[in-house]
Amino acid sequence: MTAQIIDGKMIAEQVRKEVGEEVAKLVAAGKPKPGLATVLVGENPASKVYVSSKQKACAELGMESFGFHLSEDATQDEVEGLVRELNADPRVNGILVQLPLPSHLDEESVLRSISLEKDVDGFHPINIGRLAQKGRDPLFVPCTPLGCMVMLEKIGVKLEGTNAVVLGRSNIVGMPMALLLVRANATVTICHSRTKDLPGVVRSADVLIAAVGRPRMVRGDWVKPGAVVIDVGINRIDDPTHPKGSRLVGDVYFEEVKEVAGAITPVPGGVGPMTIAMLMKNTLHAAILANGPA
Ligand code: NDP
Repeated sequence: MTAQIIDGKMIAEQVRKEVGEEVAKLVAAGKPKPGLATVLVGENPASKVYVSSKQKACAELGMESFGFHLSEDATQDEVEGLVRELNADPRVNGILVQLPLPSHLDEESVLRSISLEKDVDGFHPINIGRLAQKGRDPLFVPCTPLGCMVMLEKIGVKLEGTNAVVLGRSNIVGMPMALLLVRANATVTICHSRTKDLPGVVRSADVLIAAVGRPRMVRGDWVKPGAVVIDVGINRIDDPTHPKGSRLVGDVYFEEVKEVAGAITPVPGGVGPMTIAMLMKNTLHAAILANGPA
């Protein structure tokens, strides 16, 4: 059996188109353009690439973006002072502090300083806390896990009653992913570096989300035939046959797993494009919270 390949690029394009149309409606109704402020601290090359793709996406969808770049040695007060200014700026609907922050900074304190209504990354402790509680709704949900949920929905996966396994328990992906799956009434197992018999646990999954940052760790014989596999991992590996000498792979051994799974996301072209599309959607939502609908 060969799996259905889940085209994240296409689904993300649909979402972006819908967001762009909503932005145009807001502007036609005389509302200000939704605005996203990005805060980058230091010179992490991957973070620079992520921030510039987020700004580019804003421009494509008719949103404003405001870029702020602080030096590697910025103090806690400088970062939080900037966030407070952005909280007070009515042109800014969403504030994205690019993670990871340099290690001398208190990340939780920075995230807590973002106004709840502008927390488009969904990492404010109150938004995460609400995600974890029954009967409470966060204002925003973290973009990568939300993108995974949208893909599952788009391909018609009914999560209720399924066994879902999440590989990884990070604040950014694994844990919020598991919380979203629980809210969708899946029975969820969270795996991490201390999990015993990982292949055995993974084999129980009807839906598998891999977010460990280990290139091609999940092998074909770990996967239950017909399972839906969402590969969040983005890992660069050497490949002398590739013009750049390297290429991107996921946490799943795609060539093996696609022969067993029912559906699978590729890397690149799976979860990656969904993350930015969800950020755009969250920024639109923040603008509507601030200025009302079209
Ligand atoms: P982290 O390094 O923060 O977390 C990795 C998690 O995987 C941890 O919970 C860790 O366990 C677990 N883990 C690591 N090694 C193993 C192992 N051998 N067996 C079982 N569990 C293991 O990574 P992130 O969550 O930030 O990212 C995960 C991957 O997703 C990365 O490849 C990253 O590049 C990618 N990513 C992709 C995004 C996208 O838009 N597509 C967005 C964000 C991330 P423990 O807690 O015990 O240490």
